[in-house]
Amino acid sequence: MAYVINESCIACGACESECPVSCISAGDNVYVIDEDVCIDCGSCANVCPVDAPQQK
Ligand code: SF4
Ligand code: SF4
Repeated sequence: MAYVINESCIACGACESECPVSCISAGDNVYVIDEDVCIDCGSCANVCPVDAPQQK
């Protein structure tokens, strides 16, 4: 299981520093999660103002 960031992301960057395994980075338009590294903790979803990280 992993989280993915959908197109509602406003690229605020709040989630990046919250990830315990540092698998979130800025993409071209939205932030991106490395699904191979994500441990499904949900911290990104908890801090996101627009609910963009969703569990796959
Ligand atoms: Fe990082 Fe946790 Fe979000 Fe996965 S669910 S991207 S491990 S903060
Ligand atoms: Fe995008 Fe939400 Fe992360 Fe901000 S906290 S960069 S809106 S996914």
